[in-house]
Amino acid sequence: MSIKLAGVLGSPIGHSKSPLIHNYWLKTLKKKGLYVPLDVRPDDFPSFLNMAPRLGFVGFNVTIPHKGMAVEICAELSGAAQRAGSVNTIAFDAEGRALGDSTDGDGFLRNLAQRVGWEPQGKRVAMFGAGGAARAVVAALIDSGAEQVRLTNRSADRAESLKSIFGNRVELAEWGGATGPTGIAAFVDGADLLVNATSLGMSGGPEWTWRLPPLAAAAVATDLIYAPLKTPFLATAEAQGAQIVDGLGMLLHQAAPGFERWFGARPEVTEALRELVLSGEGALP
Ligand code: NAP
Repeated sequence: MSIKLAGVLGSPIGHSKSPLIHNYWLKTLKKKGLYVPLDVRPDDFPSFLNMAPRLGFVGFNVTIPHKGMAVEICAELSGAAQRAGSVNTIAFDAEGRALGDSTDGDGFLRNLAQRVGWEPQGKRVAMFGAGGAARAVVAALIDSGAEQVRLTNRSADRAESLKSIFGNRVELAEWGGATGPTGIAAFVDGADLLVNATSLGMSGGPEWTWRLPPLAAAAVATDLIYAPLKTPFLATAEAQGAQIVDGLGMLLHQAAPGFERWFGARPEVTEALRELVLSGEGALP
């Protein structure tokens, strides 16, 4: 019996935690298979995807810079991928056709449910950022019954584009209005969930410098960034009274649906897996 192959396609790809996660699940669930990081340049992406099933690949995760191109070249897209406008998970069918899915939004919600029992129905959300990941998260929140998603983004056109896709439950606020303590207080006022979906505060990235006003004890703040684990946004939200949820769990949960499709077992997101990823050891078996 041939060994099933899967992997993550990106460029660069050396930093990816996905091989660590999937090879851990392969080992603990005693599944035969191998998951590899593959540095594939944009020009090679379509031909590589076309050939991969004949090499024994059952599917891929897709990361920067291929998430948008994958939408164009997958033979079929899930509803979530269409709503998110991006693909992060591909499974090949028996004919080798690429079926594209987006699991970021699902991973975002599962992480909040697992860590603090947060559910979106009827809730109000204040979100910083309107990039690719933000779109997947807004889609998941709206489709799961969130009452309102208040959005602010440096480039207003990206925020407007999300409103035009997701409609009236998305409200826009000026980025400038969120820069000072007064504007930001109005922006987060009454929010059950605060989300940082920008790259502000990421290790080596632009700095998060804003303060937050006092927050209700029931409010939850979460960051999509997972390096560092406690971002400046989460640190200030915690200091102002909110419960916080880091972005690592989203990364782990978004990986689970692909693994299940490729290898036929639903993996669990456990403390042991979190510890392994945080320690960074054992990337390949
Ligand atoms: P993206 O499409 O490039 O969007 C980046 C976002 O950050 C945009 O809202 C952008 O605003 C904003 N931004 C960047 N630099 C800024 C600056 N100097 N000042 C103000 N705003 C700035 O990236 P993405 O894919 O959405 O990823 C966003 C973050 O989520 C990244 O940190 C990524 O690592 C993280 N992420 C985590 C997971 C997970 O599983 N935990 C999954 C996906 C992404 P503009 O539109 O104005 O450029």
